[in-house]
Amino acid sequence: MDKLLDRALASLARRVWPDRSEVRLRNELTHLRSRAQLAVIFLFTVLVPGVALAWIGMSAIGAESQAMWEEVRQEGDRELRDVLKEVEEQFTGFEAQVKTRLVAGRSPVDNQSSISPFLLTSFRLDSSGSLAAPFTEEPLPPLQDQSFYFSPTWRQAQALEANAPTAAAAAYLQASRQAESIHEEGEALFNSARMKAKAGDRDEAIGMYADLFADYSEVRTLHGFRLGDLASLKRGELRMQVDPEIGGADLRELVERLLNRRWSLGSGALDAAIAARALELVEDVAEKDWLARSRGRLDNQVEQLYWAKQLYPELRVFHPEGRVLPVARGEFSYRLGNNALWATMWWGEDNPDFYAFALDISALEQEIQAMTRSATRTSETVNVVVLTADREAPSDTLARRSLNPWLRGYELAVHPRSAADLENSQRRKTAQRAAILVLALVIIVMGAGLTLRLVGQELTIARSQADFAANVSHELRSPITQIRLKGESLQLGMAETEEELNDHYDAIVRESERLSRLVDNVLDFAAIDGGHKTYTFRPVPIAQTIESTVQAARYGMEMRDMHLDLSLSPHLPVVVHDPEAIAQVLLNLISNAAKYGKEGAWIGVNAEVVGEEVVIEISDRGIGISPDELPHLFEHFYRSSDPAARRRKGTGIGLSIVKYIVEAHGGRVEVSSTLNVGSTFALHFPLTPPTSA
Ligand code: ADP
Repeated sequence: MDKLLDRALASLARRVWPDRSEVRLRNELTHLRSRAQLAVIFLFTVLVPGVALAWIGMSAIGAESQAMWEEVRQEGDRELRDVLKEVEEQFTGFEAQVKTRLVAGRSPVDNQSSISPFLLTSFRLDSSGSLAAPFTEEPLPPLQDQSFYFSPTWRQAQALEANAPTAAAAAYLQASRQAESIHEEGEALFNSARMKAKAGDRDEAIGMYADLFADYSEVRTLHGFRLGDLASLKRGELRMQVDPEIGGADLRELVERLLNRRWSLGSGALDAAIAARALELVEDVAEKDWLARSRGRLDNQVEQLYWAKQLYPELRVFHPEGRVLPVARGEFSYRLGNNALWATMWWGEDNPDFYAFALDISALEQEIQAMTRSATRTSETVNVVVLTADREAPSDTLARRSLNPWLRGYELAVHPRSAADLENSQRRKTAQRAAILVLALVIIVMGAGLTLRLVGQELTIARSQADFAANVSHELRSPITQIRLKGESLQLGMAETEEELNDHYDAIVRESERLSRLVDNVLDFAAIDGGHKTYTFRPVPIAQTIESTVQAARYGMEMRDMHLDLSLSPHLPVVVHDPEAIAQVLLNLISNAAKYGKEGAWIGVNAEVVGEEVVIEISDRGIGISPDELPHLFEHFYRSSDPAARRRKGTGIGLSIVKYIVEAHGGRVEVSSTLNVGSTFALHFPLTPPTSA
């Protein structure tokens, strides 16, 4: 396969470069092959993996960004579900507790074991729609005839109250006998006891209150107060004057009785008033804890009573007496006025009663908000908010769920905590990844570039060496052929005239010199390259070396119709140098000037002292050198790529030998050249001799 390819390439090359020798063609082919292999290696080890890496990297970055948003959405869904579950658990537990307490006849709202901070009131209704717990509907006694309170005896007693309490007490006693109902009778007796107390007859009053408590306990006054409660209050107050301990205990008992009683929507407020007064009286003697607890309970009951009074009439509209509405749990809900009340009711599971409760909407909202906050504690990325009628969903909302039936018209919405932050961190991540990717690619490309350059340089050197071998063999062949031809024609006596004979001898000498110069150069180059070239420095007038060398060269030049102009400054000094080596330098430069000059052209050799240096210049008016080739001239095997230069035969080692020798003498070579005008090679030698060989 390889051979086939080689053959194909060879025939192609032969067609492209028909005038190249076999050796050169082979060189060219080997070089082409190496370059092609290098390109293939570069393609498969750098380019393809690099592109694949970049593609995989970029698509991974894209996928990651998508995955992040998907994750945020899922997290949002999870959070919403969690919050809703928590809300539902709260409510289910809450409903059950309210119901249990109501069934037991207790109020679900008391400060000792409050079920929920947002429960304002709750009550149970029986199948007839009447209140069953914790309030009663007990109406105040109807007052058909109020003439008793306008009777002369009653009015006289009232008139005496201010200044004659004893007489007033007697008048009220009198009135009690005239009373036509137990209410009138009780109230008259109560007033009589009150006047006795005012008159200072405390023991008598205490006794009368005790009797009233025993006999008229449930009897109501005109304003609806229970006489039993009023009598207890008054008796306690009086007994406190005698003994605060005993009186205080009486009043505390009264407070407990009032607070534990099932309050009626009608007279609950009166009970509350008596309890409040009793608490005021025992303020100084009662235990602080008990006092605070009782006040709290009282406040709660008053508050509940207030809300129950608001809600109950509304409920009656939906649940008129004797008619049971088929209401399912959570179905009935509305706001009551501006009080942000929400009511719901549900059927008891095994009885036809139902329960209703009123909630403080803003407290409930806060509670759910607190829940959303606590539920999102774990989530750094999303936030759950409660949406009310007047609160719009955030623009970056990921999902929303209704809070029905718990909180009609309310919704939960979940949104990223900070979309901008997420985007930024994602962008940062992407940038980082991309930077790493780019860095990796840059390193790969740089590494590959470096390797390619090195390999390229090696290939160029290899090519130059191959070219060198081809050039040397070619350079050797032509003088040898010449010498042989001329020698043979002499041998065969083919040269007859004097002129012909001389021409043959000259050619043999010239070609031998060329041959020996070439061999010298190759050997020198090998010695220099191997690092074992040495020079013998001697103090010799430099003019002598230049003159003898130019003399030797001149003959060949003149043969080619070239004019060699030598100009030596008269004050050239003795310079420590190796005359053979310097001669070789000059010969190389002169033969280059001739080679790259033009037929019939001029070559100038000029030497003078400039400052501390001897400067020898070899100038021509030849093809010149392009500026970008100047830096490479002295490299091993370097030959110009200019076709005009390439036409001239050469090996590319002459100038590198020149440079080496001049530098071994502590000097330097400078070139100045203009294309198609000519070149000048200037050798600068220091006047002080080199210290080592
Ligand atoms: P070569 O054997 O090719 O002459 P050299 O090392 O002597 O090798 O020269 C290197 C290259 O420098 C030549 O190939 C030629 O292109 C260029 N060069 C040298 N001297 C001259 C000159 N006097 N004029 C133009 N080009 C020159």
